[in-house]
Amino acid sequence: VRVAVVAVGDELLLGDVVNTNLAWLGETLAAAGLPVVLGVEVGDDVDPIVAAVRTAFEAADAVVVSGGLGPTSDDRTLLALQQLAPRWTELPNPVGTAPGVRTDVAGRPLFAVPGVPGELRRMVTDHVVPWLRDRAGAPPALVTRQLRVAVLGEPEVAARLAPLEADLPDGVRLAYLAGTAEIRVRLSGTDPATVRAAWDRAAALLGDVVAAADDESLAARVLGLLAARSTDLAVAESLTGGLLAATLVDVPGASTVFRGGVVAYATPAKHALLGVDPELLARVGPVDAEVARQMALGARSAFGAGVGVATTGVAGPDPQDGVAPGTVHVAVVGPGLHSAVGSLSLAGGRSQIRAQTVAHALDLLRRALG
Ligand code: ATP
Ligand code: MG
Repeated sequence: VRVAVVAVGDELLLGDVVNTNLAWLGETLAAAGLPVVLGVEVGDDVDPIVAAVRTAFEAADAVVVSGGLGPTSDDRTLLALQQLAPRWTELPNPVGTAPGVRTDVAGRPLFAVPGVPGELRRMVTDHVVPWLRDRAGAPPALVTRQLRVAVLGEPEVAARLAPLEADLPDGVRLAYLAGTAEIRVRLSGTDPATVRAAWDRAAALLGDVVAAADDESLAARVLGLLAARSTDLAVAESLTGGLLAATLVDVPGASTVFRGGVVAYATPAKHALLGVDPELLARVGPVDAEVARQMALGARSAFGAGVGVATTGVAGPDPQDGVAPGTVHVAVVGPGLHSAVGSLSLAGGRSQIRAQTVAHALDLLRRALG
């Protein structure tokens, strides 16, 4: 059973609301063996909704309409359904006011569910998925495995995986999902053993650039490695301005390992709060590998932590004291670790450079602990 999704709402077309319902439906239905093959957005008007549903049935065996079911005058989905199907079954909505609808259009199933994400999820899980899986003869679920790489570009990742791509097992799909600070390699298919074997091969080909697996973030991985060593962590940040600390704190349970951080943005603060040698700062300026290393040492002693990590660099868009944007140094210090400094030349705008700096700092720490 191939599914098409029609998301109704002027707010989607105006950009006021991001269509998270489509993303959730795509992931959830694919996992249930019911792939979404088309997703469209349409405004709150009867004729366009009718036309969108008809188009959706050209591409799919079943259609899910989201939104526009409420009682207010801007909710037109039911008026559109009246033109498409003579009668329907109401689906109870235990978490909201507007019930959903199930009906047949020319012998094929159509579901309409409320646009409020919590209501949609509940009704799709309770009604749509079981009904469609039953109708489809319980198709095999889709298995998805991921590998996350923090510090390589997409072409380099693809080059390493070329041998796998050259003879990818039947029924396995390989995709590259590039974000600002990581590339996810996704392997999916319906046979768990085949997907697992392809994933193992990808992991071996990528080797030590694999930062984390599946749904684990790099920050979570690093905190886990620190916990396994029974040590703890403090950070000192310049250009990332707290983003490194915030990324760590995003991980539930971070408090068992993460002690805190110092944002030492101005050059004198790097000396006053972190004990960076003032003569060094005067001689080389704040964007320097040795400054990064001393900042990491300063963070360690400020918090009495086992491991210190630091970031310094130029986020841009303008050069700073003649140093180009994207010039970044990250450092890791700690007993029993190779004290490590990464000197980088990053591309992108200010927020990308800051996000990539966080990824590089965490990945340097991962390797130092590995
Ligand atoms: P209810 O009667 O519960 O309001 P409804 O079907 O009328 O249900 P809508 O009025 O279309 O729901 O949407 C309600 C809210 O749900 C919107 O204001 C929006 O915040 C959110 N929403 C609607 N469609 C989507 C979507 N595709 N993705 C994410 N959020 C959405
Ligand atoms: Mg609406």
